[in-house]
Amino acid sequence: MSKGTINVAVENIFPLIKKFLYSDHEIFLRELISNATDATLKLKHLSGIGEAKVEYGDPMIEVKVDKEKKQLHIIDQGIGMTQEEVEKYINEIAFSGAEEFLEKYKDKNGEDAGIIGHFGLGFYSAFMVADKVEIITKSYKDEPAAHWTCDGSPEYTIKKGKRAERGTEIILHIAEDSTEFLEESRISELLVKYNKFMPIPIKFGTKTETLPKPEDAKEDDPAPTQEVDNIVNNPNPAWTKQPTDLKDEDYKNFYRELYPMQFEEPLFNIHLNVDYPFNLTGILYFPKMTNDVNIQKDKIQLYQNQVFVTDNVEGIVPEFLTMLRGVIDSPDIPLNVSRSYLQADGAVKKISSYITRKVADKLKSLFNNSREDFEQKWNDIKIVIEYGMLTEEKFFEKAQDFALYPTVDGTYLTLEELKEKIKDAQTDKDDKLVVLYASNEEEQHAYIEAAKEKGYEVLLLDSPIISHLLQKLESTNEKLSFVRVDSDHIDNLIKKEDEAISKLSEEEKETLKIFLTEVIPAEKFSVQMEAMDSKANPFIITEPEFMRRMKEMQQSGGGMFGMGNMPEMYNLVVNTNHELVGEILNTKTKKKKERLVNQALDLAKLSKNLLKGEEMTAFIKRSYEMIK
Ligand code: ADP
Repeated sequence: MSKGTINVAVENIFPLIKKFLYSDHEIFLRELISNATDATLKLKHLSGIGEAKVEYGDPMIEVKVDKEKKQLHIIDQGIGMTQEEVEKYINEIAFSGAEEFLEKYKDKNGEDAGIIGHFGLGFYSAFMVADKVEIITKSYKDEPAAHWTCDGSPEYTIKKGKRAERGTEIILHIAEDSTEFLEESRISELLVKYNKFMPIPIKFGTKTETLPKPEDAKEDDPAPTQEVDNIVNNPNPAWTKQPTDLKDEDYKNFYRELYPMQFEEPLFNIHLNVDYPFNLTGILYFPKMTNDVNIQKDKIQLYQNQVFVTDNVEGIVPEFLTMLRGVIDSPDIPLNVSRSYLQADGAVKKISSYITRKVADKLKSLFNNSREDFEQKWNDIKIVIEYGMLTEEKFFEKAQDFALYPTVDGTYLTLEELKEKIKDAQTDKDDKLVVLYASNEEEQHAYIEAAKEKGYEVLLLDSPIISHLLQKLESTNEKLSFVRVDSDHIDNLIKKEDEAISKLSEEEKETLKIFLTEVIPAEKFSVQMEAMDSKANPFIITEPEFMRRMKEMQQSGGGMFGMGNMPEMYNLVVNTNHELVGEILNTKTKKKKERLVNQALDLAKLSKNLLKGEEMTAFIKRSYEMIK
């Protein structure tokens, strides 16, 4: 047996390891299993090229808990190490790696600890949970096994080991403050979290499997069972396979594997697969979206060579796509860096734009190949697409081909198709194409009907971020404007040359306006006299597009500063050509006149969904009086 002192600058590195990584202790298991996996894959490679004259077989990695002895074992059948290699790799390389890591970590003051804490410590992370660690290892080369022991001080011992088979066993003597890692359930949980898709089978205990009953078994004979290895991972997850080898069902099954608690099926998937200029594989799924953007985030899992790293892919995937689900696996994403650095990193930028492009291409091909299906899914995916159009210029350009604008009648049109369809009827006198839209079919029903009567198309645009998108579309299409159906009366929404002839004289209009402004509270409505079609409603409440849109933009982030708190602004459009308006003018008694105005105003409020509470009660009472 020989003793040695590990050569480090820091007097005792282990308390530091513990202190700096206190929140991430659990990653030790992933680090050790990664090492075991690497050792196994190295052997596979060496035997493949004829370097190692050994039978590769079907190696696995075993994790064992010995609660009584307070030990955790990680055993592999990989290349192993000779005594000399242990001295070199463990005492020198692993240790200097740990030291370097800590240096880096100290400077960062824990900034972005999430991602930094995930990688880089390697073998020595074992000391976060163990007060003594043993390595018993036998190389694939014909040399005796080595047995290394270290109790967390820079001193270690190394002697000949008893191990006969090739491979490495790491024994952790779990420390008093880490006994949680002696619980089977805790280890299971970690194996599922980090190792679910690692490439070498990982055994953790056994399980009972039920076998089919033999032919001659009696009815109440119990089915025979057998104990089999409990393999916790799927070494060949779908994303590591070629898209051509996978069927729709395989993608769905993999989704279930990723999200066992998710009962809804994904809408479609995108298989990512590139090896130049960077390496990246993965599968992204479009789930059904709700309008709440935030709760859907953080569902994409990031892997490096099938080892789970994090489920926060911010900076790697463009923000609008963080609403998707699935996995991304790339060895080219630097992880020991802060997020701000990550976002500026050239390789990561390329990855992000590659993913954006792939998503756009997939959407386009879905649109081209099965438009009907795409239309059916539109409402469930539009929030991602609209958000992407707003935030990524490249995506905005590509989305022109497949972004849809549904009408209230359920027709889905691209912007080009829409323009073509409405250009004759909805071009105003200034040669602007006016697109009418509603945000709520029920609430804006009267306005929608008025527009349809004129032969206009009305879109149904109800995403929370739609005001932002319309703003953007208008700024990129000079001759295009969007107005909500209730933002003015119909003749004003799309102004044509021909002015309607007014039944009232200017004088009469003036008299009426003076009377109306006395009765109608000016702080709520500004009265606007308009000579309209006599069949259009006498009173119409409108909400000017600009102010409303700015307010909405403010509420959903962005837009004009301070607008979000502005009170709602309404206009009361009075149709001077309507019979009732003439009647109001000609009614002699003030009281009767007022009653007509109030009743008409309430009806207008009702059709804009503004009549509530006390006003509603008064309205109902008054209406009963009138029909008595
Ligand atoms: P890293 O894996 O990043 O190189 P580690 O500190 O985890 O750093 O390990 C240091 C070295 O020790 C590895 O590069 C490898 O050569 C050796 N090693 C660690 N674990 C094993 C193992 N289970 N089998 C064989 N070699 C191992």
